[in-house]
Amino acid sequence: MNYDSFCELNFKNPKQHLSVLETPLGMRSFGQSVAFCNRCGLCLQSCPFYLLSLEETFSPRGYNQAIRFLLKKVLSPIRSRKKLQELSVSCTLCGRCMQACPGQVPTPQHILELRRLLDKRFLPFTLYFLMRLHSKHPKIFYTLARLGLSLRRIGVIKLLRFSGLSCLIGMRWMNQLDRMIPRSSKNARKQWKELLQTKEEAPSLIYIPSLETELFLPEIGINMWKLACINHRPALWAHTPTGLFEYVYGNLREARKQVKKIIEQVDTLDKKEIPVLTDSIDVYNFFKQAASLFEDYPQWKERAVQFAQQVVFATDLFPEDLKAPTPFTTPVALEYGALFSRQTKPFQTIEQKLHTLFAENFVQCRDRQADLPAFGYSFYAKDKATQIRALALRPLENQHVGTVVVLSGWAMMEVSCKKKKTLPSLKVLHVAQLNG
Ligand code: SF4
Ligand code: SF4
Repeated sequence: MNYDSFCELNFKNPKQHLSVLETPLGMRSFGQSVAFCNRCGLCLQSCPFYLLSLEETFSPRGYNQAIRFLLKKVLSPIRSRKKLQELSVSCTLCGRCMQACPGQVPTPQHILELRRLLDKRFLPFTLYFLMRLHSKHPKIFYTLARLGLSLRRIGVIKLLRFSGLSCLIGMRWMNQLDRMIPRSSKNARKQWKELLQTKEEAPSLIYIPSLETELFLPEIGINMWKLACINHRPALWAHTPTGLFEYVYGNLREARKQVKKIIEQVDTLDKKEIPVLTDSIDVYNFFKQAASLFEDYPQWKERAVQFAQQVVFATDLFPEDLKAPTPFTTPVALEYGALFSRQTKPFQTIEQKLHTLFAENFVQCRDRQADLPAFGYSFYAKDKATQIRALALRPLENQHVGTVVVLSGWAMMEVSCKKKKTLPSLKVLHVAQLNG
């Protein structure tokens, strides 16, 4: 007997898996979805990891073939564990292969299922522990995060970094974050703090700031708020776990719980069809697929489908007469880094807007070989992540781009940090900051 999904193979923990995948061409069982890969190889040249390794095993076709062998019991998840783990951590979940694939086979979703089967923790223990706290005990998480940020402000983190102590106490990841987190102005922090305390009694839009906006990038939050205020009386929900972290790195049951929590919060409002706004393209893509989490839970499925329709992005709030904040004299480009897919509506809208705003000054770096890797990738594939970032940023350098527009706070921190050496004058704008 062959398996049709990892639910059957992982009999200890079947609920860890999705029984049905939502693909661009409709709902498919996991087995069907993998079988749609006809091994044509049209995706190979679009996969950044394949371009670096030039090994068939580390290509979308290779990943799908390995998963097919698992389902057919040709490979054993126990005996081949090491190799499978190596495969599953190499994929950046960028979704470029889906774009190139004639059948739009969702290879990143297959990789996530493989990770769930292997039950591997991809983040360093202390960071993983912190992120679990964020989902389970947000109050403790925020107290610790604020303490960490205060210590950073007074220079303690830098001291730990230079003395090497951070590595000794198992917090090497802190060094990386310390390099990435920008210094925000006191004024912006104060304004954002006030906004976080704002309570609207009859909101007509809910804004859920992403974790990076809430903690490190108040400027994005303030701009999103202004954008939302053009046509709505928004209400802001901070400290709301999104489930994205669990979906990608952790426990799918927890991811379901967190999405349910958000849906329940929306349901307490008088107007249940209220738009739910996010400032991160990754959270947006995750929420849009929320229904696939509840395929075996009919009481939640319908509500999750409706919830997915309510989710909006900054690009949905752009006014007709959107004006750029300042006149740009150097080329403007768009960064396509996103988890799972870059074919979603926000990318199409922002491309059109950038064409209108900047005309020939908007350059589309079509020769790109990679996008920025997702959060956490560099923790398990440090060297590869550096090379993939270089592939992603090189076209900007070649085309003398002066401003790059990003669709998430994480991408903003990544580009701002990496450009320091090669493109120091490059300006990074979050899409919400376009509405000057
Ligand atoms: S994933 Fe798509 S493009 Fe790649 S080998 Fe399979 S069918 Fe072909
Ligand atoms: S999601 Fe990206 S890294 Fe993963 S197989 Fe597809 S193209 Fe390659």
